[in-house]
Amino acid sequence: MTRALHELGVAEGLSLLEAGQLSSRDWVDALLARPDRYGAFLLRDADGARAAAAAADARRAAGEHAPLLGVPLAHKDIFVTAAHPTTAGSRILEGYRSPFDATVVARLTQAGVVSLGKLNCDEFAMGSANENSAYGKVHNPWDPSRVPGGSSGGSAAAVAARLLPAATGTDTGGSIRQPASFTGITGIKPTYGRCSRYGMIAFASSLDQAGPMARSAEDCAHLLSAMAGFDERDATSLQQPVPDWLGDMRAQHGSQPLKGLRIGLPDEFFPAQLDADVNAAVRAGLAQLEKLGAELVEVQLPRTELAIPVYYLIAPAEASSNLSRFDGVRYGRRCENPKDLLDLYQRTRTEGFGPEVQRRILIGAYVLSHGYYDAYYLQAQKLRRMIADDFQAAFKGCDLIAGPVAPSVAWKLGAQDDDPVKAYLADIFTLPGSLAGLPGMSVPVGLGAGGMPVGLQLIGNYFMEGRLLHTAHALQQATDWHRASPAAAQGV
Ligand code: GLN
Repeated sequence: MTRALHELGVAEGLSLLEAGQLSSRDWVDALLARPDRYGAFLLRDADGARAAAAAADARRAAGEHAPLLGVPLAHKDIFVTAAHPTTAGSRILEGYRSPFDATVVARLTQAGVVSLGKLNCDEFAMGSANENSAYGKVHNPWDPSRVPGGSSGGSAAAVAARLLPAATGTDTGGSIRQPASFTGITGIKPTYGRCSRYGMIAFASSLDQAGPMARSAEDCAHLLSAMAGFDERDATSLQQPVPDWLGDMRAQHGSQPLKGLRIGLPDEFFPAQLDADVNAAVRAGLAQLEKLGAELVEVQLPRTELAIPVYYLIAPAEASSNLSRFDGVRYGRRCENPKDLLDLYQRTRTEGFGPEVQRRILIGAYVLSHGYYDAYYLQAQKLRRMIADDFQAAFKGCDLIAGPVAPSVAWKLGAQDDDPVKAYLADIFTLPGSLAGLPGMSVPVGLGAGGMPVGLQLIGNYFMEGRLLHTAHALQQATDWHRASPAAAQGV
């Protein structure tokens, strides 16, 4: 074996497992031997993972087949799991254990994965830097003085640091794409409704979507194929068949696999404030796509800037309603010696929720209140529709939209402590697609300032995950950006 086991991706590891040249147990042991220096895991269950790996090896030896049999991963701690506690990064869920698995978790388990545990995230997935977790910040493996992005920061850091070949994430307004961009990995947020939200702790239900984070588009396709599909337990789950993404990706041939693909570049995604290093890396990625046969065309998304206020009204409004269930009665933590019911609610929620979550609940309750509902919430809903319409107009002239994932590389820990709005503004390129419910992807395209990774964002029309994966795969077949690792960058 020429490659260290912890370097193996999903596809590589699977083919070795299938060829009998690798055991899941050895793969898992190699990953567990690596210290978590970045605070990526909230819970690393070495015994459970070893036992599950041994069971997967026994199933394979007995001739059983499952698409991901023996592949190690871990779950963002926003998915409920019966085997491990679930916190959503919040004190209020301290000690909570779900009686069931989220559908996405259950499907991956059914496909044969071995879970190494639960990954850190921003509290209730609210954040862009993983600095809002009640259980500690996550550090970026490329530079531990910087954030890994958020809210799926633990997932991103673990995959980038080669503690895992892949992880689950969720994306409400960018939480798969932005941490993938900040840590040089590949992540896809599918069309809203593609993956079941059942058992995914709700933040903003009309936006929340699960997806895979891994080191290549092919590895993402492996996971997504298992995660996606209709679920009768989620009323917003799509009745769409899951295409053969892997087969379609492998079918691409020749030196011009993207011939005929029109990639739309919205002017609004390349504003003057975009950092020059990010712009340069994104343009280098686009130039490669052109070499592979794609044609770059101009499109417009005129309401891009409005996506920020629209999202930061709608998401908190939904959050304030979703989080009302955490009252100290049914789930997790309860305050000590409550005087009466009101005191129980108030102190449990004051002690249990962190400052960012409290801020969102207050904003959400305010914009939904009588007298402000029309002025804020209803207006935001109308603009949300217009933003979605803009995408449909743009897709008349192109097959995919591309641009940066974020306006800068990962910032320093604490850099945005003084003003939460700074982080909100940095979501500008991921929020429009989220509001429209469109699939989006982050693909590494080199390094920017401070030697930090930069992601290219690809946005497709509804159900066009296959086109995103195909495009990213073609790029990754022709370039090495996705293979860059923080250890290599640091000369380790
Ligand atoms: N950064 C955005 C927020 O704080 C998006 C988070 C997410 O997608 N979960 O709400």
